[in-house]
Amino acid sequence: MLLKNQRTEIVEFGKKLVKSGLTTGTGGNLSFMDRDANLVAVSPSGIDYDDMLAEDVVVVDMSAEIVDGKLKPSSETGIHLGLYRKRHDISAVIHTHSPYATTMACLNAEIPAVHYLVGFSGSKVPLAPYATFGTEALAKNVCGAIGRYNAVLMANHGLITVGPDLLRAFCVAEEIEFVARIYYQAKNIGVPVILTDQEMKKVIKKFSGYGQKK
Ligand code: 13P
Ligand code: ZN
Repeated sequence: MLLKNQRTEIVEFGKKLVKSGLTTGTGGNLSFMDRDANLVAVSPSGIDYDDMLAEDVVVVDMSAEIVDGKLKPSSETGIHLGLYRKRHDISAVIHTHSPYATTMACLNAEIPAVHYLVGFSGSKVPLAPYATFGTEALAKNVCGAIGRYNAVLMANHGLITVGPDLLRAFCVAEEIEFVARIYYQAKNIGVPVILTDQEMKKVIKKFSGYGQKK
């Protein structure tokens, strides 16, 4: 099986998305790009994460032609491929319908630096304008909005995160959902205080040395 380990990892992280409440049913999708092979393993369209097997994950080339796999790839494959073309620093893309991030997306509002953990994305989470799911127009909007950020909200839809591997893209999705929830809660009882760009630069720099030395 082509890209067996990566396909297995996609299944594992799909289950983690459901378990962590970051998505439900068949919502959202995940992919991993093997930059040496120039191939992308992407979750199949409309398959429950609990039922998904490694062989169900589809391998496509950069023109979205199926190279290995029997199922139809995610309807958002265009977004995934577009992001890999645009951002050479990433090898994983995750799309979720996590409830608080999606709430902000439905207000067509960016997520500002209401909490320092927004630094998992950058100084904020930008917003991509609405387009119908699974369209080239949506892929164009997402690729146009992402810049150097690691997360982008899709208006009236959900969240996209990127990273050098699936674990990092998953952590961004988890932390941005937390920040979106805090933003929602803070807005409910008062006026949130937003951190300055200067402070966020400091935070992002500090993140690179956070935790244990490898
Ligand atoms: P797929 O099942 O085709 O990946 O679609 C889910 C989704 O979230 C569409 O935006
Ligand atoms: Zn979606």
